[in-house]
Amino acid sequence: MSKHDVEVLVVGGGQAGVAMSEHLSSGGVRHVVLERGRIAERWRSERWDSLVANGPAWHDRFPSMEFAEVGPDDFAPKEQVAQYFADYAQKFDAPIRTGVEVTSVRRNPGGPGFTAETSDGTYTARFVVAATGPFQKPVIPPIVPRDAPVHQLHSSSYRNPDQLPEGGVLVVGAGSSGVQIADELRAAGREVYLSVGPHDRPPRSYRDRDFCWWLGVLGRWDAETPPKGAEHVTIAVSGAHGGRTVDFRELAAKGITLVGLTGTYRDGTLGFADDLARTIAEGDAKYLELLDAADAYLERNGLDLPEEPQAREFLPDPACMTEPVRELDLRAAGVTTILWATGFATDYSWLQVGALDESGRPSHRRGVSAEPGVYFVGLPWLSRRGSSFIWGVWHDAKHIADHIGTQRGYLAYRRSRH
Ligand SMILES: Cc1cc2nc3c(=O)[nH]c(=O)nc-3n(C[C@H](O)[C@H](O)[C@H](O)COP(=O)(O)OP(=O)(O)OC[C@H]3O[C@@H](n4cnc5c(N)ncnc54)[C@H](O)[C@@H]3O)c2cc1C
Repeated sequence: MSKHDVEVLVVGGGQAGVAMSEHLSSGGVRHVVLERGRIAERWRSERWDSLVANGPAWHDRFPSMEFAEVGPDDFAPKEQVAQYFADYAQKFDAPIRTGVEVTSVRRNPGGPGFTAETSDGTYTARFVVAATGPFQKPVIPPIVPRDAPVHQLHSSSYRNPDQLPEGGVLVVGAGSSGVQIADELRAAGREVYLSVGPHDRPPRSYRDRDFCWWLGVLGRWDAETPPKGAEHVTIAVSGAHGGRTVDFRELAAKGITLVGLTGTYRDGTLGFADDLARTIAEGDAKYLELLDAADAYLERNGLDLPEEPQAREFLPDPACMTEPVRELDLRAAGVTTILWATGFATDYSWLQVGALDESGRPSHRRGVSAEPGVYFVGLPWLSRRGSSFIWGVWHDAKHIADHIGTQRGYLAYRRSRH
């Protein structure tokens, strides 16, 4: 097998790897990005067919390039998002090798740097950047046995309604993925149940500005730590149908039955928590708080944007909220599929260095890990709320490239006076 030596090895060629490569290239740092699939593979092959970006194209991009065929206020289809990163990488001739999987990274014994075993032989590097994604391994909570008589899949394996067996669907999880998939299934004529947990559902737009703009001017993308207890609270937003606010009462009006958190399974019957009305009320409160903050911002800054009092009007609570379903006999209800939109975990089993804590999670500060020379980029809350999003990762990658540049400076230092 061949042997390669680079100064920086970047593992993963999604948006994080491309951003890393740009900043390293600007600093003249010799590096390679190894990607086991294609550039932005997860956008291509681990998401459903109709997915469009959750943020408008003016926002969900890197600073120096606009989308070629998507209007700034439109939402790029996922294939165009992937193509954007491939084009971006081409723009500066990024040294990305596709189809190469990294299987292990270890510190060199008794010497500097690291050795990586890959499907393309051995790579040695002084620095390693893990850019393998914020959402790597599908997580399905252990509630329904795998061999239960119901089809089960994770949202990362969902493509379109035709892929599912005939019959009703229970979608578990009401973040951006769960609500969009439930809506699509309902529109395709399916009977749909949607299990709703704690969430944030910002207005798609308010007073003529997208919520991405509001989070920006209100400084919320820059929040450095998640509100206490909210590390995993999912944001339910959607760019589908030109971008609409996620509204659970509206989903119910379309015929989706909302249920509380999925808790138990016995003999074909699922049990749901009695928390639906409270969860939705909490989501409403956060929604209204953002409207209040937006109004206050406009007043403070003397900005004149059209008022939008109707944004504060809610549809009446549907029956599924006032008399919630607490148990669902899947067979009797004709539910043949459970679709788990329950999020992802990370898997760093290939990274065999001291950069992980006891539970295998990255141990780092702003991406600079506990193991000198090893970095993480692209993780949720790496430096702030925006870190796992397209625009945020670019800035985090810059910080990491700067850190590597500083370390290179120290290593290159030679004393001039003796
Ligand atoms: C459904 C969904 C919709 C989203 N929509 C948006 C959105 O609209 N806007 C936004 O800003 N963010 C969005 N995100 C969040 C985020 O932007 C994406 O998750 C994005 O894919 C993260 O990019 P990344 O480069 O950090 O990681 P990934 O895209 O996951 O890229 C990591 C890459 O590493 C490769 N890899 C992994 N392990 C190895 C290995 N051992 N060797 C070699 N290569 C390896 C993978 O093949 C992959 O290509 C969305 C996320 C999801 C799940």
